[in-house]
Amino acid sequence: MTDDLLVGLDPAWERGDPSQLIPDNHRERVAELKTRDPLLAEAYERWAEVLAGAPTIRDLEQRTTMVLGRERGALTKALAGIPKLPIEQRRVWGAGLNSAKLGLEGIRDLRRVDLEASAESRTTAGLDVTLPGRRPWVGRRHVLAQVQDELLDLFHGLGYSVYTSPEMELDEYNFGKLNFAPDHPARDAHDTYFVDPAVLLRTHTSPGWVRAMEEREPPLRLVFPGRVYRAEQVDASHMDQFHQMDGLCVGPDVSMADLKGTLDTFARAIYGAQVRTRFIPIYFPFVEPGAQLDVSCVICDGTGVRRSKDGSSRCAVCKGTGWLEVLGSGMVHPNVFRAVGYDPEKVSGFAFGMGLERIAMLRYDVPEIRLFLENDLRFLGQFPS
Ligand SMILES: [Zn+2]
Repeated sequence: MTDDLLVGLDPAWERGDPSQLIPDNHRERVAELKTRDPLLAEAYERWAEVLAGAPTIRDLEQRTTMVLGRERGALTKALAGIPKLPIEQRRVWGAGLNSAKLGLEGIRDLRRVDLEASAESRTTAGLDVTLPGRRPWVGRRHVLAQVQDELLDLFHGLGYSVYTSPEMELDEYNFGKLNFAPDHPARDAHDTYFVDPAVLLRTHTSPGWVRAMEEREPPLRLVFPGRVYRAEQVDASHMDQFHQMDGLCVGPDVSMADLKGTLDTFARAIYGAQVRTRFIPIYFPFVEPGAQLDVSCVICDGTGVRRSKDGSSRCAVCKGTGWLEVLGSGMVHPNVFRAVGYDPEKVSGFAFGMGLERIAMLRYDVPEIRLFLENDLRFLGQFPS
């Protein structure tokens, strides 16, 4: 019977030392098996050594099949033969084979853990640390955020602080207190997103003036950056949301000359020191008088003509006029001061408002306003950060 136990064991198989896997337990079990049958103990040791010495997981599986496999395993066959043995041998062999089986299963499991761990460390050892690394993708500020930061820097230098107000605004703040007549066309549902009859998405950043003046006493020097909404048909030059920055300066003796000086400084900082400016009258309900600021065209240097090797052509950016419309401004209307509780006899002020998209489009020659909101990295990645 002990000869059968070694069937399938290949003498060429590498042997290992099982007592390194389970030091005390292994010796105890060999001693115990020797008391039952020295030949069983010998067969157990041989199998234990080839399992402990299996060089790969594949070899370990093959050897396990030969000794413990459900069909071909030497121990399985020996256990199946026990009922044929004389009665006095049945107990000795039954207990001995079961003990051997338990021991071999333990050695198989521990050897598998060792082999898996060393396979894992080989994978790590294959790591080539001299290969160049993969750079993580780094984002940058959106071009409109860059323009806004640049303007905030400029106005901060002129003594202005930032004031932010809600994007969802009361009709009264967006229109009424800014001297819009009740039947003004901007209040039409076709032009403005109304949330309910008294609440809307602000159409400009100017409601911030009203909130700031109701909250604070003059003098004030504030800028109001933010997103605004209009119920526009979206096309190359119109979006239903865009960005503005208003400015407001209120004090006991603020004049139109202060407005012109401030906006000239702004124009030279943004469009270059050589730029020329002009003011032309324009109407807004919340200023009196109102003035539109134009700067000389930065593309054709104010000539209206673009010269090239092939000859001259009309400048497409300023449409041949030599001037670019930049922003709206004016002296704060006395009715606005009255609406916030200021006395127009005691304070005066100027205000201005500009579109950030327009500034970015002119500076970077962007043909479509929609590009700013499409989040296409091929577009956004072109701007220096
Ligand atoms: Zn031009």
